[in-house]
Amino acid sequence: MYNRYALYAALFTFGSLCVCDDPTGNGERPAPIPNPKTAYEYFVELSKYPRCSGSEKPASDFLVEFGRARGLDTRRDEALNVLIKKPGAIGRENEPPIILQAHIDMVCKKDDGVEHDFERDPIVPVIADGDWVTAKKRTTLGADDGGGVSMIMAVLAAGGLSHPPIEAVFTTEEEPGLLGAGRFDVSWLSGKRLLNLDMVQEGAIVVGDGHVDGPDIVVPIAIPALMKAAVIPEWPYKPDSPLRDKMVEVYREYYGEDPLIAGLQHAAVECSMFASKMPDADMASIGPDIIDLHTPNERMRLSSYNRVYGYLVRLLESL
Ligand SMILES: [Zn+2]
Repeated sequence: MYNRYALYAALFTFGSLCVCDDPTGNGERPAPIPNPKTAYEYFVELSKYPRCSGSEKPASDFLVEFGRARGLDTRRDEALNVLIKKPGAIGRENEPPIILQAHIDMVCKKDDGVEHDFERDPIVPVIADGDWVTAKKRTTLGADDGGGVSMIMAVLAAGGLSHPPIEAVFTTEEEPGLLGAGRFDVSWLSGKRLLNLDMVQEGAIVVGDGHVDGPDIVVPIAIPALMKAAVIPEWPYKPDSPLRDKMVEVYREYYGEDPLIAGLQHAAVECSMFASKMPDADMASIGPDIIDLHTPNERMRLSSYNRVYGYLVRLLESL
């Protein structure tokens, strides 16, 4: 099983070859296009820009620059949320768009005595114990949700992926109570399906807030209570969800096993805000293994991050 994971990780994250299906539709595979950077390299780059909740401007500016430098339709609102649209791959331009969403801000905490100015100093991710990424100093890492932001950046930057049109939404001030998502004007979006990348456990696909149980919903994952439930709108489970069905199908192909379908309170909570604004949207949330989030001990499992990115790429190909 892990050999297979490693293969996918190598292909999608460290490799330079496009493994997309024939996007030209004429039976010829396009010439391999090098991926400009690995997803993890975008995570490292994003980590240089300060982005504590309420002080995200440097990172928000960076994302605006990132989109414009690639000639992508990029705009920002007064809450410093950033929207970047990428057309569908050749032959897929007219498919319905997929919204990919993650939050820019991070919880900024450090151990007593650590000299680190979150408003100015970069976070330096380091790989410890072979597979766990931590901040070099004893601070939060910002994998929540820099992990999600950087995966979306990699998809936006990649030249050779097969995907429908992408609407990438990067929100601010998630941690204090979904403030950026609350101010985001969803009329800027034409997509009706949204994939949030703010989940903290690989292998689980979150499809609702657990308030309304669906037939296959379980609530097995211990998530710290991140914010008061009072500010969070409901995210009802949808019995009919083509996005969830496709995600499960691709998950089985990619991992060789079934995902956990989860309804979770206090996780992937921006879906709740988007659900309240776009009640008809088909939504789900995934993410890599991240532990001890919101503490100076925050760690992200690199192999998990790479696999989830590979899964995201496969999903976009298959949508
Ligand atoms: Zn988060």
